[in-house]
Amino acid sequence: MEIQQLLSKYMLEISKVDDENKLYGALVGILKRIVDFQVLNVLSNNEVIYSEPQDVTIAQEYYADYLQWIEERLHPTFLPFEDVYVGLIPIFKGTKILSVAVILTTTEPTAEVIDYLQLIAYLSGITLENLRLFKIVDDSRQYYETIINVSNDGIIVFKDGQVEFKNLRAEQVISEHNRLLDEILKNTQNGVEFFEFEEANAFFSVSIKHIKLFGEDRVLVNIRNITTEKEIQKLKEVDKIKANFIANISHELRTPLAAIKAYVETILSMPMSYEEIQEFISIVHEQSLRLEQLLNDLLDFSQLESGTMRISLESANLCDIVDQAITVVQKLAEEKNVQIMKECSPVVIKCDPRRIEQVIVNLLSNSIKFSDQQKENKFTKITASDEGEKVRISVEDNGIGIPEDKLDRIFDKFYRVDNELTYSIPGTGLGLAIVKEIVEMHGGEIHVKSKVGEGSIFEVVLPKEQGA
Ligand code: ADP
Repeated sequence: MEIQQLLSKYMLEISKVDDENKLYGALVGILKRIVDFQVLNVLSNNEVIYSEPQDVTIAQEYYADYLQWIEERLHPTFLPFEDVYVGLIPIFKGTKILSVAVILTTTEPTAEVIDYLQLIAYLSGITLENLRLFKIVDDSRQYYETIINVSNDGIIVFKDGQVEFKNLRAEQVISEHNRLLDEILKNTQNGVEFFEFEEANAFFSVSIKHIKLFGEDRVLVNIRNITTEKEIQKLKEVDKIKANFIANISHELRTPLAAIKAYVETILSMPMSYEEIQEFISIVHEQSLRLEQLLNDLLDFSQLESGTMRISLESANLCDIVDQAITVVQKLAEEKNVQIMKECSPVVIKCDPRRIEQVIVNLLSNSIKFSDQQKENKFTKITASDEGEKVRISVEDNGIGIPEDKLDRIFDKFYRVDNELTYSIPGTGLGLAIVKEIVEMHGGEIHVKSKVGEGSIFEVVLPKEQGA
């Protein structure tokens, strides 16, 4: 084969190689056609990294002293030794030596052959440098990918709405929470830069950044699991709620107890008329009812917690229940100067009348307790209306109202709105939790609408026939 043809074939061959060994294999192939050599070693950093035949090495004494010199000279050189020649062919790019091919041959190459070898060394050098650069790029890609993959955060890159890259964590989170990817796309389209996502008791914070990569638009998404932080936050809240509860309940117990003690001590220590004693004893009675009510709430709460609360259904006239409830709160309403209004359609429902009375008493007493002292005409209005299959009981007031962001919390056990308007109003935060449970046990629903400074309306809808 003509040398030009050999060179073109070699160029074609090495343009396809993807590792150094294949390059040296091709080098061996072309060298064999040009120089008749017996052994070839390739050295890199003074170590043999390739040999032909395999595992046969040329003794270092032949060439070790010349390596430095050849690296500077960058030209193939043949050294005569008795009956053999040792050829040193530097493989280089520019002035940078990449490796050295050492061959052992019995024939001295001509100047023309040496020129070809120089050309082959140069071509091999270009390919070798490219291979090494590719390896550096590939290694650093793997290096950064490993770092990104050990990250505890999920990282996703989107290009034109499609996932272009995702790390292992992101893959895992998305496979466990299918909705998350849709949420990310939706929020990206809406220009949202940060949102929180909750599913199956797991919380994630997601941040979205628009970036440019190689001049093109990409969306970089970071997903962080914040379940532990949220749990700690919840535990802290529970702790706070518990502490508040203990303070509230102590206050609730102490107030009637202190009154009972004071009135009884007065009766015991002072001469009194029958009427005076009657008056004092009736206050003691009232306070003991308050204590009893508190204990009943606690008992209900423990039943609610243990799931042992029961209702016994019977037919009852809703208006009778409403009237009875009004009687219970009448005194409180007078003390607080709140007018009670009533509108009731006579209707018979199947329910536990004592429990429904408890619900109404609770709603009415809240509307009185949380009345607005600044307003002159304070009212609470109870309406019970027949709606065919259902009845609707609503308790409306023009009291202090409930802040919007607290509305979904007020049915939680122990929860009380904590602000300057409510701090002096007694309570345990159990009332509405018990109310909700009773309503739901009857197969009903309870809802609230409220506006701070204007008032609140609680609505209970109960089925007429079926109870729980
Ligand atoms: P308590 O009355 O013992 O505090 P509840 O569970 O009955 O507990 O009520 C929870 C909280 O909801 C109350 O502490 C209060 O902040 C708020 N709330 C309930 N009813 C009303 C109302 N009619 N007007 C204003 N706030 C109310």
